[in-house]
Amino acid sequence: MANETKQFDVAVVGAGPAGMMAAVAAAELGARVIVLEKNSRPGIKLMLTGNGRCNFTNAEQDIRKLVGAYGDNGSFLFHAFSRFGSKNIRAFFEGMGVRLKIEDRFRVFPESDRAKDILDALENRLRCAAVAIKYETAVTGFLREGRLLKEAVLNDGAVKARNFVIASGGRSYELTGSTGDGYRWARDLGHKVIKPKPMLVPVKIKEFWVKNLSGVSLKRAGIRIVENGKKSPMAIGECLFTHFGLSGPLVLDLSGRIGNALKGGPVKLLISFFPQKSPAEIEQDIIADLKNGKNKELKNCFTELMPKILTSAILSLAGVDQEKHANSLTREERQKIVSLLFQTPVTATGLLGFDLAIITGGGIDPKEIDAKTMRSKLVDNLFFAGEIINVHGVTGGYNLQQCWSTGYLAGTAAAKNF
Ligand SMILES: Cc1cc2nc3c(=O)[nH]c(=O)nc-3n(C[C@H](O)[C@H](O)[C@H](O)COP(=O)(O)OP(=O)(O)OC[C@H]3O[C@@H](n4cnc5c(N)ncnc54)[C@H](O)[C@@H]3O)c2cc1C
Repeated sequence: MANETKQFDVAVVGAGPAGMMAAVAAAELGARVIVLEKNSRPGIKLMLTGNGRCNFTNAEQDIRKLVGAYGDNGSFLFHAFSRFGSKNIRAFFEGMGVRLKIEDRFRVFPESDRAKDILDALENRLRCAAVAIKYETAVTGFLREGRLLKEAVLNDGAVKARNFVIASGGRSYELTGSTGDGYRWARDLGHKVIKPKPMLVPVKIKEFWVKNLSGVSLKRAGIRIVENGKKSPMAIGECLFTHFGLSGPLVLDLSGRIGNALKGGPVKLLISFFPQKSPAEIEQDIIADLKNGKNKELKNCFTELMPKILTSAILSLAGVDQEKHANSLTREERQKIVSLLFQTPVTATGLLGFDLAIITGGGIDPKEIDAKTMRSKLVDNLFFAGEIINVHGVTGGYNLQQCWSTGYLAGTAAAKNF
């Protein structure tokens, strides 16, 4: 096989967002680059992002706030963001003809709402830069001599290169190809790997009425976590009801804290359906709605305020007959409804696992990676990029931005590392 004898300047493992960006960056500096990908096509996980719409970056301009979205290890990304940050990746895709739009919380999407446009642009750029891609090729390990890697060992041969970029992702949504192989290689090469764990995960809820609302999405709900009798400040955001409980950005972002609280047993959560309104304001809205539909059955009221199926759930929780007419609702019944809309308790019983985690937490300790180049501090011609590094953000485009920025640095530095 030609690749077995030819030496590349840079071999990139993984054709996810981080690997593709690393390959483009290296090849555009003139390096001969090969990407080794075990799937038969690139970016399978990328195509799932943002529900197929691909929230590929966040346009937050304050770099401190941006870095703050990545928790304790965020400062590792300062340099990467200043070299190739959100503005750069937006310019990159716009330059490839992809029109963009910014939604709430500064989330950036392709205007078409199609992740495929992002993937197509990357594939075009890889083609223009003459990057070789070898699909259906699983890397199984590396041949090392002293402080240098010599070859990537494959399921069907080997590839020699002067430099290697590992961008093999985490281990969530394993069917996309991210099976955690990179953690094993990194450990074998002497790197410290923080134990991988599911991160940004949906939450299982005990109450059946929650599961019955499966498919309902609330753009603005509020959640407080109750721990040792103390309520956390309310977090507000988009919440999705599912057949196992709760998901959506609000819940995914809270899942780490809920997971910690779950160590002590089931956890009470308080859901607010109108998080920015007081009980008195909610009651006013309810009264106004009831006045407009005096003769309607209650189950057909409040259509401006919430989905019909949520009205039914709240009426049953309040013990109010759904068929009752609006004008016969008692004050006491109305106040029960208001109180539930203001704050309804549910019980979190667990988190879902790797198969439905948006991100794998943990990974290669960034202390052993040079933040300016993404180069391993233990192996002189090895670079890391993307989710495999233990720096992860909240929802909102932060995790893909991490991939573009670290991929760009790794590819650029690998191309210059001779
Ligand atoms: C459902 C879902 C929605 C998401 N939505 C968003 C979003 O809207 N915005 C956002 O910022 N983030 C989102 N994310 C997170 C984002 O997808 C990841 O951060 C990103 O894909 C990580 O990129 P990566 O290149 O590091 O790894 P991956 O995308 O996992 O790519 C790794 C590649 O390496 C290949 N590989 C692995 N092992 C080997 C091997 N042994 N040999 C050869 N190849 C190998 C894999 O096949 C894969 O193609 C979402 C994640 C999920 C699961």
